[in-house]
Amino acid sequence: MTLNVLVVGAGVSGPAFAMLLQRSNPKHKITILERSPTIRLGGQQIDLKNQGPHILRQMGLLDEIKAKCVDETGLEVVDSKDKTIARFGVAPAGQRRPGLTSEHEILRGDMVQVLYEASIRQNQSIKAQSEDPDTGLRYVFGQTIVALDQRENDNVDVTFSNGEKKRYDLVVAADGQWSHTRRLAFGEETSKAAFRSLGIHAAYFSLPRIENEATLAKAHLAPGRRMVFTRTSGRPVTGALLFTMQKSEKLSGCYRESIEKQKEAFAEAFRDIDWQADRLTSGLKSSSDFYAHELCQIKMKELSTGHVVLLGDAGYCPTPFTGLGTNLCLVGSYILAGELARHGRSNISAALRSYDEKMRPFIDECQSISPTTLSLFFPSSRLGIWAMHSLAWAVASFSERFWQGQEELKDDHAEKLPMYPELNLPW
Ligand SMILES: Cc1cc2nc3c(=O)[nH]c(=O)nc-3n(C[C@H](O)[C@H](O)[C@H](O)COP(=O)(O)OP(=O)(O)OC[C@H]3O[C@@H](n4cnc5c(N)ncnc54)[C@H](O)[C@@H]3O)c2cc1C
Repeated sequence: MTLNVLVVGAGVSGPAFAMLLQRSNPKHKITILERSPTIRLGGQQIDLKNQGPHILRQMGLLDEIKAKCVDETGLEVVDSKDKTIARFGVAPAGQRRPGLTSEHEILRGDMVQVLYEASIRQNQSIKAQSEDPDTGLRYVFGQTIVALDQRENDNVDVTFSNGEKKRYDLVVAADGQWSHTRRLAFGEETSKAAFRSLGIHAAYFSLPRIENEATLAKAHLAPGRRMVFTRTSGRPVTGALLFTMQKSEKLSGCYRESIEKQKEAFAEAFRDIDWQADRLTSGLKSSSDFYAHELCQIKMKELSTGHVVLLGDAGYCPTPFTGLGTNLCLVGSYILAGELARHGRSNISAALRSYDEKMRPFIDECQSISPTTLSLFFPSSRLGIWAMHSLAWAVASFSERFWQGQEELKDDHAEKLPMYPELNLPW
């Protein structure tokens, strides 16, 4: 009962899911379609915690991931004179502590590369033992899909951007927050209604590192509902993250414009910031990896329609501000592969229903933040900033005492995952 599956998107979730599914049955035919000509290695730091490290360990990849992790030693909240207001340490992967730095912090590009290369290695070793040249995993780059047709029961007919048409048992939309596959399968209206804005504009880019810049991340709150993070973590460059809750037509409208226009809108919004203004605005202008968007969560009532299913950010993006997005991708990949392996080709619909049901608690946990709560972190006045600084100082001092000696606390995140012996993982 082998499956013929199309996965759209070779980010984090596409290759992770494909690897897990292939382990359940080496005879599955899996195609991963990526719009870009190669895998996209952009992005700043992402963290791996909760169930993420457990799943990677089962996949045999945790050591490789750990070897690529960056060395961030914690987070300092600083005032406009760079004076430390509060300091937070590194949280063990299994514990949710206040602060930004987790035990496993990795650049998004390194994570994508590890998964991509591991999927190629796994496929080569499976293909070496297979007699059927049509089975296995293959990547198709530089293409996308332009139409999906589910009129034929239990099949999805796909038209590709090069005009080719193919039939699949299942299409997995792993093409990120702005998923084109979601739009094609669920319709424009449903897809649009899934976007929940958090009212935050965000930009990420790399800056030249200052000599002796600390391996601690720094966070600064500025009047006008602005927040800046710098993250160096022993790398030759520093990651800069700008966030603002300012209501600005220029910012809201810039995402439909060129990168230059987006840079201009963010430079204007942060020009008069009272910390590292020159470094940030000139670094922003000269950066080659600038990426900006309005933070939105994706909330879908259903994760599948017919035999098209949403995975990762396409189905349940929590936003980098709430965190745990990569963790959710890995949990989604594991549960979707597990349910398909359990139900088999004859019962894909039951597998997709069960995937939806089992994902809900994980999704709800990651998406449980409202714009109102977030706005507390973006004070507009100096008085508001003073209040947030006092709070940060109190939380940091209290948590340091509270967590002292608690490194060995039991990590029970793996126990929350359903077990799938069908995936042939060592668990
Ligand atoms: C360039 C980039 C930079 C990012 N930077 C950060 C960051 O700094 N911090 C952070 O927390 N998160 C970042 N993210 C988001 C982060 O990767 C995701 O939140 C998370 O890892 C979920 O991964 P995903 O696989 O669901 O989606 P993504 O990682 O977004 O991957 C989706 C993939 O699908 C491809 N794709 C999109 N549309 C199509 C299409 N129509 N046809 C075929 N392929 C398509 C994309 O090129 C991409 O490779 C970034 C994402 C991207 C794509």
